[in-house]
Amino acid sequence: MSANLQTPIDYLKGVGPNRADLLRSELGIHTYQDLINLFPNRYLDRTKYYKINELQRNSSEVQIIGKVTGFKEVAQKRGKRLVGTFQDDTGRIELVWFRGQKWIRDSIKLNTPYVIFGKINWFNGVFNMPHPELELLNEHKNNLRSSMQAVYPSTEKLSNKGITNRVMIKIMQSLFLETKERFSETLPDHLISELKLLPKSDALFNVHFPKNQELLSGAEFRLKFEELFYIQLQLILKNLIHKSKIKGFPFESVGDYFNNFYKAHLPFDLTNAQKRVLKEIRQDLGSNAQMNRLLQGDVGSGKTIVAFMSILMALDNDFQACLMAPTEILSVQHYQGFKKLSNKLNISIKILTGSTNTLERRKIHESLENGELQILIGTHALLEDKVKFKNLGLAIIDEQHRFGVAQRSKLWKKNTSPPHILVMTATPIPRTLAMSVYGDLDISIIDELPPGRQSIKTVHRYDKNRLKVMRFMRDEVEKGRQIYVVYPLIQESSALDYKDLMDGYESIVREFPQPNYQISIVHGKMKPADKDFEMQRFVKGETQIMVATTVIEVGVNVPNASVMIIESAERFGLAQLHQLRGRVGRGAEQSYCILMTSHKLSQDSKTRLETMTRTSDGFEIAEVDLKLRGPGDIMGTQQSGVLNLKIANIIKDKDILQSARFYAKRILDKDPSLGFPEHGVILKTYRELSKYKNIWNYIS
Ligand code: ADP
Ligand code: MG
Repeated sequence: MSANLQTPIDYLKGVGPNRADLLRSELGIHTYQDLINLFPNRYLDRTKYYKINELQRNSSEVQIIGKVTGFKEVAQKRGKRLVGTFQDDTGRIELVWFRGQKWIRDSIKLNTPYVIFGKINWFNGVFNMPHPELELLNEHKNNLRSSMQAVYPSTEKLSNKGITNRVMIKIMQSLFLETKERFSETLPDHLISELKLLPKSDALFNVHFPKNQELLSGAEFRLKFEELFYIQLQLILKNLIHKSKIKGFPFESVGDYFNNFYKAHLPFDLTNAQKRVLKEIRQDLGSNAQMNRLLQGDVGSGKTIVAFMSILMALDNDFQACLMAPTEILSVQHYQGFKKLSNKLNISIKILTGSTNTLERRKIHESLENGELQILIGTHALLEDKVKFKNLGLAIIDEQHRFGVAQRSKLWKKNTSPPHILVMTATPIPRTLAMSVYGDLDISIIDELPPGRQSIKTVHRYDKNRLKVMRFMRDEVEKGRQIYVVYPLIQESSALDYKDLMDGYESIVREFPQPNYQISIVHGKMKPADKDFEMQRFVKGETQIMVATTVIEVGVNVPNASVMIIESAERFGLAQLHQLRGRVGRGAEQSYCILMTSHKLSQDSKTRLETMTRTSDGFEIAEVDLKLRGPGDIMGTQQSGVLNLKIANIIKDKDILQSARFYAKRILDKDPSLGFPEHGVILKTYRELSKYKNIWNYIS
């Protein structure tokens, strides 16, 4: 890249200090380079001319040849607008100006052929075009027209200050004139020929001034590939550097705990996916590098046993391990589960949460520090400074999306050198997204459910079917099953949501009166102890119906619960619906999920409900979710910077992403320091990108 591209934008012909300020503040364009990387949002056909009688109410931007035959001023609430009559031989439309009226009147020649271009509206029985672009037909003929004219991103301020799309195109033209032939190649020759990519300068030219559709596609492909290639290169390098720099604790042997458990106490055969994932983890733990692995697996895919067996590997090498979960309920469940699994193994396990009393706390601190305690399970309480391990070798985080990066890094500091880290999540994100967001973590996926799982029957019912639903509930309760009824609580403080919940609770109590029936209720406004008490009643089977807000969303395991009823299901996101449904189908019985909604449904809600009734594959659901909500929302603001791409689109371009990752990896496998002569251009570009911070935008 020539240094010239770092020239401040002020120096470009046609820009000047005022426009430069606007370009900087509105679009973040500081240099020539930034401007070149301002890619069009879309393209318009400027070879087509419309006749006025061809205009349709839904036409958007059109180009018409005709004459202005007169002006009038129309008073409006504030000030006045200028209206011009524009006609061709088939009809007339109105041109409208709200600003710059005097200048317009003075400069437009009446009854002279013009070409106008702009958006048309239908108003009061006539078409009008506000603030059209106007050009004398004579002059227009002298300009070459592209069949595809770039439309650049803009802002209201830019267009108000006269930096219209036409001006942007002019600026872009002068940029290409000044920097002619100076775009040096940024990808190695062998990639360009292998992938038949357009050379850099052709790609840049054609993305701004496409000669035809084919060249435009080629240009876009090349630029998207390049963008994704350097991001992947960055992520993979980060991972490599991490592995070479941060020494882990190698768990050299697989010892008695693991072998004993595997041979004698495994409660079921592992699925192939579980075995594969355990091998991947085993390999990491046995190496000299610190493990940083994300374990993705759908709800119920059996992540817990994988966590447990990984912990046994730590214990076999005389290290301690901990497991952190987002809620008290989940921690208790893990604790009980681990107790059961390790029943015959003679292992010390304790649980630490906000409600652990002082005496017990002190005992835990002591036995952790002297090494007697081998496994500690708990909530955020594990992160407190007072919690010191003698030799923590492995830290596992369950439902990692509930924790922030800061909390993860606190775990890092619990030993002289960071322990191995395994984060688990049941909110699958599509692989492509995982690849770009967690590209610096290694990823394991459990993509298989344990055998014999019955699929959950999912149906969508309208409020007017409520009587039938109640009858169904009664039948299931008669059979000895338990039922969840979940209400949305979008905002913790929403009084209206609480009212819905309480109304719902009361009508259920009326339908299912004591003493024959017992109903639990759990919501966020209750004291933790009360919540727990109610939850435990349901877990023990003392209550048949649990009315709740989404506090039960994560991880709760009550195998006898076989019906999940979700009220106002249209208000939940897909990920949440999927999580909620995952609370049932955990036992031997056929399970059901009933999505209750009103009749008024948005298009997105319909798609969500249709998706839920069609599939129970978490990854498929995540793909739909990603399409509906966009990547930023899914990852939360924290990580959305990763997706701040200039030309590529994570969703639409996932094939290009995959290919970019493949080639980046292939190159780094062969040449991790990018020292080969044929990789010189990669190293140079990569350094350049890091220097000018462009690439850091992508990395959180
Ligand atoms: P999640 O991945 O959602 O955390 P869990 O680890 O809680 O799932 O497992 C869900 C249920 O499946 C548990 O009751 C567990 O005992 C059971 N399970 C896990 N793996 C297997 C397997 N390979 N065969 C049979 N049941 C299994
Ligand atoms: Mg789990």
